[in-house]
Amino acid sequence: MREFLLDGETISDEAEDFASRLAFAYRGRSRPICLCCNPGIPMYIAMIGDQPTIKRMPLTGGAHHQACPSYEPPYELSGLGALMGHAIKLDADGAAALRLDFSLSKRASAVSPSAGAEALERVRNDSRKLSLRGLLHLLWHEGGLTEWTARWAGKRHWWQVHSHLVEAARTMSVRGERLVGRVLVPEPFRMEDKTAIEKRRARALAPLFENKAGAKPLMILVGEIKDLTPVRMGQQVVIKHLPGFRLYLEDETWRRLQRRFETELTLWQSADNHHLMVIATIGGSPSGTVTAHEIALMTVTEQWLPVESVYETRLLEILTRKCEKTIKGLRFDLPRAQPYAAAVLPERPQPLALYIVPAGADSEFEARLKDMVEARPDLAVWIWRVDKDEMPDITD
Ligand SMILES: [Zn+2]
Repeated sequence: MREFLLDGETISDEAEDFASRLAFAYRGRSRPICLCCNPGIPMYIAMIGDQPTIKRMPLTGGAHHQACPSYEPPYELSGLGALMGHAIKLDADGAAALRLDFSLSKRASAVSPSAGAEALERVRNDSRKLSLRGLLHLLWHEGGLTEWTARWAGKRHWWQVHSHLVEAARTMSVRGERLVGRVLVPEPFRMEDKTAIEKRRARALAPLFENKAGAKPLMILVGEIKDLTPVRMGQQVVIKHLPGFRLYLEDETWRRLQRRFETELTLWQSADNHHLMVIATIGGSPSGTVTAHEIALMTVTEQWLPVESVYETRLLEILTRKCEKTIKGLRFDLPRAQPYAAAVLPERPQPLALYIVPAGADSEFEARLKDMVEARPDLAVWIWRVDKDEMPDITD
């Protein structure tokens, strides 16, 4: 059971009229307060599908009590820590103000949008700005899609992923503009709603085709790749829930994408139940096609939990069968040579941080890992050195 302060009254989430009270509070824009700590922590109500749902304000998970479902492990355990206060700041309304390392517009003079060196997300190590993949990780994290318990088995589908991503984008802004207006996450496609869905999509994409002088806006597409097929001058990407829509990559972009995201592509191809997510800045061309400017990929498991190696997949196969909650860690913009907690099990009296040391990790990796572990003596630690041991047991 969980208690909230709602419109001046304490209410339990097991109360019979909880859902109707939430719906009422949603319409009145009341802010619920989680009472896991004293003073309580302000939250907000979002509609997920047609369900009013209490969500955390951006990046407030650490303020909740460790046993509270809204608790999040310290951000220093993932790549999020390095970005906080730099690429990601909280503004006065509690929204996350982002500084992006990619452009949301293109100069009108750019003839070939996806050509050459600009086309692929550049590899940088700059914590003052958020990369495209970093943004995808942030949307996943803020959407709560990094959390899992076996009790949810079979219950997470695209419509939930879609709703949570859109809701997460609502809590973010870029240069004072709400990010949600720039993000296209395809809504679940249903044949019977085809006309209405296509109208909404056309309306969302219309700014890309406006014939105005000056810089042209770009949008951010987040979706699941259904298929990648060669076409005469490159590759076309088919996105699930976007029938009839094609995203074009020129040859050079596609070659670079394959090199940079070889692991993500291999993980996707080698497991039947994995999904391959794409995030891309997209622009319209005069001929009516949509072209990717910058693009990044992320592989997720059947539970939609992001993985970056086959070792993480194996670890999640164990963790996702547990009823206790797992929070998957994400790399964000940390370089591969730096450790982060692959997962945290937060519900234990002493939460467990799980680390994977990749094959060929150097002494600097080990030194950084030692620092991370020593900085958090309140956490129990599990470490898997993949070139030395089989996966160690995870005791309950
Ligand atoms: Zn709480």
